Amino acid sequence: MFDYLIVGAGFSGAVLAERLASVLNKKVLIVDKRNHIGGNAYDCYNESGILIHKYGPHWFHTNDDNVFRYLSQFTEWIYHYHIVKTFVDGRLLPIPINMDTINGLYGMNLSSPEEVNKFYDSVKVNVGVPKNSEEMVISQVGVDLYNKFFRGYTLKQWEIDPKDLAASVTARIPTRTNRDERYFTDKYQGIPKQGYTNLFQRMLNHKNITIALQTDYKGLVDSVKFDKMIYTGPIDSFFDNVHGKLPYRSLIFEHETLPMEYYQGYQQVNYPNEFDFTRIVEWKHATKQKSHLTTITREYSVLATDEMEKYYPIPMESNHELFKKYQAEAESLKSVIFCGRLADYKYYNMDQVVARALAIFRNKITGKGE
Ligand code: FAD
Ligand code: UDP
Repeated sequence: MFDYLIVGAGFSGAVLAERLASVLNKKVLIVDKRNHIGGNAYDCYNESGILIHKYGPHWFHTNDDNVFRYLSQFTEWIYHYHIVKTFVDGRLLPIPINMDTINGLYGMNLSSPEEVNKFYDSVKVNVGVPKNSEEMVISQVGVDLYNKFFRGYTLKQWEIDPKDLAASVTARIPTRTNRDERYFTDKYQGIPKQGYTNLFQRMLNHKNITIALQTDYKGLVDSVKFDKMIYTGPIDSFFDNVHGKLPYRSLIFEHETLPMEYYQGYQQVNYPNEFDFTRIVEWKHATKQKSHLTTITREYSVLATDEMEKYYPIPMESNHELFKKYQAEAESLKSVIFCGRLADYKYYNMDQVVARALAIFRNKITGKGE
């Protein structure tokens, strides 16, 4: 007999399992259909002994003191600014676009934020309030930079014209007037010192928590006794797709280990135009691991089929409308709590998922509010 059945051992499920067990002394069964904990943040050592993120690069960053303090109970950190370059016109240039991007691309010599702003003013397109991902970018940096840095990458990643994609997607990438080359400017950034999987092991290491892997909840929901359920899988699957399937993007990862210390100069290089892949990640830059070998991972984006892992909800109006039908069903079920990137159908980062799980614990479970 369990107090809670939690479906999914990613950040959403693990945070709630940990809080329920250690704060409220509840008995929790957490199940995942994969053969490991950690959800999409899972990392592991490959056959060459290199630590890789199995489901693509997970660069932790947050401004939320609470989230950082909470996670720091279970890990120390490798503090590290995430740096991403993009391959445009045969050169590696900074993304987010900054002063060096403009100077490098156009052979200019801008040297102050005022001059960079003046440049943006001369190229940006007045669209009013940006209504989609294309307008979001051209209203800041104009059409040429949009075509070179955003259009091709976005088409590869989403297979949707940026005109049809929510403005929030490209709004994730800021525009800079200075030389700051960090991908994120958050107060805390880095990766867990012993890896994400170790962080999850420490969160879930509690006598009240039972973990069942390679277990689809649908196969045991009738045979296990529990009071309440927390569901962090795809919301449409929970309701057997009664309103139609929500679309998700999946990814194909091509991992390659090479007999050299480093393959590229940076942890991540984006390829907006040439090649079918979107980006190449080289893990050792972030993990600081020492080895005479290196592993790189190329990422290809595809529409998720039923057999594939679902990684990204697709932020566009029609999908949001369909999601709202499932959300209404979800709200009518009093003994099931839905949360997470797939259950909320929201393009959350890890820190947002942790913050949401902590808020659900406070507001919906303990009833103690903020
Ligand atoms: P998930 O991690 O998806 O966990 C849900 C779990 O539920 C899965 O393990 C799944 O197997 C399980 N499940 C589903 N259905 C069932 C079922 N029927 N029965 C049993 N188990 C089930 N965030 C950042 O902050 N920084 C980054 O750099 C970053 N990079 C990312 C890169 C990629 C390629 C992707 C895909 C995501 C990235 N994210 C990043 C986002 C981050 O992965 C998510 O915010 C976070 O992992 C979501 O946690 P979750 O628990 O909601 O979902
Ligand atoms: N993007 C782009 N070019 C880039 C980086 C990002 O066009 O070099 C756009 C693209 O639409 C992408 C979105 O911005 O899907 C968000 O980028 P982010 O790096 O946050 O993607 P994630 O790491 O979540 O896949």
